[in-house]
Amino acid sequence: MKFDRVLDLFFQSKCPICNRSTPDYLCVYCTKPLIACRSEQFCETKLPIPLFCWGVYDDALKRAIGTCKYQNQPKIATYLGQQMGQTWQTDRDALLLKKLTVVPIPMHPEKQKQRGFNQAELLARGFCDITNMPCKPELLVRTKNTKPQMQTKSKEERRQNLDQAFVSPKQKVKYPVLLVDDIYTSGATIESAILALTAQQIKVGAILVLARTSLHDR
Ligand SMILES: [Zn+2]
Repeated sequence: MKFDRVLDLFFQSKCPICNRSTPDYLCVYCTKPLIACRSEQFCETKLPIPLFCWGVYDDALKRAIGTCKYQNQPKIATYLGQQMGQTWQTDRDALLLKKLTVVPIPMHPEKQKQRGFNQAELLARGFCDITNMPCKPELLVRTKNTKPQMQTKSKEERRQNLDQAFVSPKQKVKYPVLLVDDIYTSGATIESAILALTAQQIKVGAILVLARTSLHDR
């Protein structure tokens, strides 16, 4: 056997999504469809606060998020955060915003204890690895253990579910906040987080989410 083949045996690992052997963290069969889930339009500038959605919550991206959360694969979130960082670095609307303080949407401490990690925080950290922006998860605290937004039915139920779900400690923040979350459904979670930050005079400059649910899921 050739020496490089022997090295391959040592350095090949299993892709956490499909279990194929791969020299990279994710195999090429998973990477390609994941990249294909990227949204055609990264930024929605028509909203009062610009909203950036990296991808559509469907197919490969849905599977990757599920594997990350329910099969204990936190590194997938870091990887996807880095992908968001790379897209950000080449986007005209994003670059107009300059430096921001990155704040992930927190999980309730009890839920985080069960899962062992907060995927939104890992997305934010992966994003900051690439963009060199400061990451400050301590700027938001989740005080209410809410139901997943996708399990709530009406708009009113969503609002009640998230009413005063977050608080923010009084702190001086150098740059406006970039809120980061994994899935964007109705925007109610983000709205609730913005209320908590603005109550402390902390400005939210933009919102960045990994995946937006398609119309039929809303
Ligand atoms: Zn794979």
